[in-house]
Amino acid sequence: MTTAITPPTHDPTSPIPERFFELLQETWGFDSLRPSQQAAIASILESRDTLVIMPTGGGKSLCYQAPAVFRGGLTIVVSPLLALMKDQVDSLIQVGVPAIRIDSTLSAAEKRETAQQIRSGNVRLLFVSPERLANQDFIRFLEGNEVHTIAIDEAHCVSQWGHDFRPEYRQLRALRKSFPKAAMHAFTATATEKVRLDIIDQLGLNSPRVLVSSFDRPNLTYRVLPQVDLQDQIREVCERHRGSGGIVYCLRRNDVEMVTEYLQRKGFSAVGYHAGMSHDERKRAQDAFLSESVDVVVATVAFGMGIDRSNVRFVVHASVPKSIEHYQQETGRAGRDGLPAECVLLHSVGDVMTLKKITEGSLREANASEDIIASARNQIEEMSRYCRTPLCRHRALVEYFGQSYGSPSCGACDVCLGDTDEVPDAKTIAQKILSCVFRVQERFGVNHVVDVLLGSKTQNVIQRGHDKLSTHGLLRDISKAQLRDWVYQLIGQGALELDGSEYPILKLNAVSRTILFGDAEPRLIRTATTAKERKQAITSEAAQFSDTGLFEKLRILRRRMAQEQNVPPFVVFSDSVLIEMSAYRPSTLDRMLNVSGIGKVKLNSYGSIFLETIREHCQESSVAMDVEWKKSTGTNAVPSRPVRSSSTSKKNVTIPMLRQGCTLAEIAAAAEITSGTVVSHLLELMQVESIPSIDGWVPVELQQKIIAAADAVGREKLKPIYEHLQQSVDYEQIRLVLSFEKQQLAT
Ligand code: ADP
Ligand code: ZN
Repeated sequence: MTTAITPPTHDPTSPIPERFFELLQETWGFDSLRPSQQAAIASILESRDTLVIMPTGGGKSLCYQAPAVFRGGLTIVVSPLLALMKDQVDSLIQVGVPAIRIDSTLSAAEKRETAQQIRSGNVRLLFVSPERLANQDFIRFLEGNEVHTIAIDEAHCVSQWGHDFRPEYRQLRALRKSFPKAAMHAFTATATEKVRLDIIDQLGLNSPRVLVSSFDRPNLTYRVLPQVDLQDQIREVCERHRGSGGIVYCLRRNDVEMVTEYLQRKGFSAVGYHAGMSHDERKRAQDAFLSESVDVVVATVAFGMGIDRSNVRFVVHASVPKSIEHYQQETGRAGRDGLPAECVLLHSVGDVMTLKKITEGSLREANASEDIIASARNQIEEMSRYCRTPLCRHRALVEYFGQSYGSPSCGACDVCLGDTDEVPDAKTIAQKILSCVFRVQERFGVNHVVDVLLGSKTQNVIQRGHDKLSTHGLLRDISKAQLRDWVYQLIGQGALELDGSEYPILKLNAVSRTILFGDAEPRLIRTATTAKERKQAITSEAAQFSDTGLFEKLRILRRRMAQEQNVPPFVVFSDSVLIEMSAYRPSTLDRMLNVSGIGKVKLNSYGSIFLETIREHCQESSVAMDVEWKKSTGTNAVPSRPVRSSSTSKKNVTIPMLRQGCTLAEIAAAAEITSGTVVSHLLELMQVESIPSIDGWVPVELQQKIIAAADAVGREKLKPIYEHLQQSVDYEQIRLVLSFEKQQLAT
């Protein structure tokens, strides 16, 4: 297998020519690239095989679209879904880029016409489905053209370790053979190392540059709450986002139907979507959502692949997802436009059990091996633990994917926002719970232990004499739901084990004993804020200035324009463009060009008509136009990403100091950031530059300890290493040592 990391020989932040940025401004109306896009585009412009790993919404498509236009000639893009291809081609045509797609839906005449256009040399991007590549005639036709770049979208589909394996993707090797000189670039949002290596192997990428961006989605607010009144909790989220697009995920068809009806009764525009509906019904639901004639889709997880609506403002999980990867992917559908969005996960023990049962059943039906079944069960368990662990959600997710999280608090999750309170006497409560588990001789499940602690006199309790135990009634002042939740929080922290799958039993472990002996401090939380106080954690800079009345008018206009051309509204303009328009309220076409996301062609197509609505509105409501709400330099950095831009400026301080070998503490003080953030900058630097030694940052002895632990428990994930070292080292240190080791191995 080809190894993944080869250190590049230059600084990838510089080699993009000025002319490229002019093109970006003229065509897309963007005047800057995001840092991860910069690295990817630099590599692509060099014609070096590249694997780009970026979370959903990170801006992958621009990475192959803009270089394709900049370099001229023909770029082939392989994309797994017709809907995705169509949206991309429509979007490109909207900005004046000659793009075309070939798939099974074209008639023979259309295919001929398309072939002619390609031959004429005027097409920059050709989108094809992987199925087409099995067709020899088609391959021969392609070979008649000069193809310099092949981009593979959703590249994880090539790997059977990925969540969307598609056998057709295996045909892609044929492309490689037909165009041995073309550079191949693969794009995915999948985080696991195994899938990454498999992509490189399966596609035959040639010493690729592997670029991994941060998995954090700073514009998402995560909330993870126990189910209390499920329907009402769902309604509450929909209420907070009334009029905006959202997805509610349910476990079963019945739930989909019930929740849809309920939301409709409460006056929401909602449709259901599940596998039991006919193909046509499903298509209608999906189209309604995409065209924004419906706000909320209530769906089983079957809904999502190919949903490219960029302005989804909320995702609710009315049940626990199958794995943390699934959760990341499903919540990833929110806020793809980079604007704030909210993800709420409502969990319950019952759901976890049902999910395990359903998953196991369907795996057995498919004759899956015991290994696979155990691994699926494990993943559900991990997900359930995530729900119950009162740690910053952004941090937990990022660390799950093996990255480090810079700041101590995200300001955008239930834990950091203080939706929940620390329970002050957590230690005593935990000891009572654990000692009750001990008293019932580690032979009973959660319900029974909770019953005993509450002092219940159920038949079960009395029959076994458990009403005579010293722990009977020890926590009788606590509500049942709260107590159950705390038991699960202890399990989530590894302070209690749940053993067995059918009727799981509570067992003590080493951690429980340290808590019982008073040597460890467990954490327990309870919900603090009421539903009404919960609000969107992050609002974009532009949104604060935007005139909501105008925004609504512009949205209606956008929908009309989209309908006329039979494209989804976000293809006309993204929400961020409308928000900026209604904040800035430009009075001339020239000024309208200042809005990020409006290039020349779109200005020509839509400028005047949007200007008219803006003028009319401003006259009617006597509001000012040409509001200078942003820096007058004309920089159009995406306003919703202040986190990114400020971190770039910090890097101007940290990177040179790192190169000089200053200590983490010195750098942290100079840049006024935490040393964790300094480490994350160092890790980024190591991706692009080889570092001679890390001895100044991690003592040699500690490095050896970490390596030994990694040898013992493997390098796939950081958590086992962290645990193996009894949580005595930081994740950042582990990550640093492993990255350095990898760099050493690659050179
Ligand atoms: P992905 O494919 O990685 O999920 P997309 O390519 O759909 O992400 O991009 C997400 C959003 O970000 C789109 O609305 C796109 O227009 C916007 N975007 C991408 N790059 C930039 C940029 N450099 N400046 C401003 N907006 C951008
Ligand atoms: Zn947080």
